[in-house]
Amino acid sequence: KAVVHWFKTDLRLQDNRALSTALQIAKEHQIPLITVYIVSPEDFEAHLTSPARVDFTLRTLKQLQRDLSELDIPLYVETQEKRRNIPGRIVELCQKWEAKHLCANLEYEVDELRRDAKVVRLCADHDINFTPSHDTCVVTPGMLSTGAGKQYAVYTPWFRSWLRFLKENPDYLELSEDPGTNPGNARKDFADLFDCKIPETPSNKTLSDDEMKRFEELYPAGEHEATRRLEKFLKEKCGDYDTNRSMLPGENTSVLSPYFACGALSARTAVVTAKQANKNHLDRYDQGHMTWISEVAWRDFYRHVLVHWPFICMNKCFKPEATDIEWEYDMEQFQAWCDGKTGFPIVDAAMRQLKHCAWMHNRTRMVVSSFLSKDLMLDWRRGERFFMEHLIDGDFASNHGGWGFGSSTGVDPQPYFRIFNPLRQSERFDPDGEYIRRWVPELRDVKGNAIHEPYSRGAGAIAQKNGYPKPIVEHAASRDRALARYKSALQK
Ligand code: FAD
Repeated sequence: KAVVHWFKTDLRLQDNRALSTALQIAKEHQIPLITVYIVSPEDFEAHLTSPARVDFTLRTLKQLQRDLSELDIPLYVETQEKRRNIPGRIVELCQKWEAKHLCANLEYEVDELRRDAKVVRLCADHDINFTPSHDTCVVTPGMLSTGAGKQYAVYTPWFRSWLRFLKENPDYLELSEDPGTNPGNARKDFADLFDCKIPETPSNKTLSDDEMKRFEELYPAGEHEATRRLEKFLKEKCGDYDTNRSMLPGENTSVLSPYFACGALSARTAVVTAKQANKNHLDRYDQGHMTWISEVAWRDFYRHVLVHWPFICMNKCFKPEATDIEWEYDMEQFQAWCDGKTGFPIVDAAMRQLKHCAWMHNRTRMVVSSFLSKDLMLDWRRGERFFMEHLIDGDFASNHGGWGFGSSTGVDPQPYFRIFNPLRQSERFDPDGEYIRRWVPELRDVKGNAIHEPYSRGAGAIAQKNGYPKPIVEHAASRDRALARYKSALQK
């Protein structure tokens, strides 16, 4: 009597593989399509989902529900307190709606794979056809391997192979058909589902009124906004992306990550649209567009890594030898890092940007992760966790990958002896101190290049008067300590 599409982190109508399959089945049988989303506070807790991301997801669901409703497709949303009940509940709903077909896109994290394996078993027991789809990556994990038939652990050859694959298999860049109106009469058969309300934010993930308003302004929800941002970025910024992307003042990157994370934008759409803007080339026609495509590909890369080495979901380093690195346990220093009070202006500006915007620039993500794990010698997992708890784009694979890179414990990492010097990073990527002045008001009156290092460049009095802390560590000494500790663990 109906086909069900189960939404997860694919909250969009356009270019959604499983949704498109569900519609095809509905058309073939001329039966209604129903869509469902389960809110799981326990999942939010287990995966450290930030309140900003929960809020963004719920706002996106509201927009999605409106868009679906215009096509006469209902979106039914309910909360399940216990995540172990989700598979059973999905099957129960299919039975209630007399649906013999269930479609969903796969998620590759271990918890999600286990959940979906349970759905497969339950569907088989109840005579429901479950069709899972690969959707989140442009190139499906498992399709690329080295000459020796292994999974790549280094990005550059992987990216070459990714490009080659797409040239040889252009169908991977074909976008799914836009959904039309519901082929069945859902308005009559499932009228009550159209009245379904999106649940309120779970009590453990609420935002203050101020934060709610700010995030709504910074990140309007839904796929229309994602498309608008993508087009604007490609038109106005992408051409210079290869030269400007690391510069901290202004907005030189797309800020599309929140939309990718909840699935309001597909990586395929991003690559196809950038390719079109690049005169339809997937090679080095214009550096800006190709560089941006290669960044979107990093997202695929880390997902391929996750699928091949799922143990990284278990709080483990990609490199087993990194387990032996001796960490410090100075919680005051950790707190100073979290609060943006380390006395290193670039680090503090970045951490305050994160608190205020629930987002941080990629360059400073690298700077602060290196600072935490090398200058402070604190276990990178504390930082990884803090990021997830605060980022609106918190995404396990990319976050784990980024932290593995910055702390030199991950796949294709920064070599351990390349330790970012916060001062050099600051001078290079925020030459006039504009970014620092924006986020660290205590330093707003500091003139010239003293902004990068106020206490040793003659601006100590202003910094002190305004309560800006002195550096909590000395970079050169911390660097030596990190080199020794990393060397002893990684070169055994
Ligand atoms: P753009 O520069 O416009 O790039 C476009 C898209 O490409 C991004 O939206 C993102 O989906 C993808 N992308 C770009 N760089 C990377 C990268 N290095 N790794 C993976 N994907 C990338 N990204 C997240 O989406 N979620 C995270 O939780 C996350 N945590 C990170 C933690 C650390 C320590 C580091 C170093 C990086 C992390 N990143 C994460 C990657 C990157 O910083 C963000 O994707 C990027 O800053 C988002 O801004 P943007 O959308 O303007 O990116």
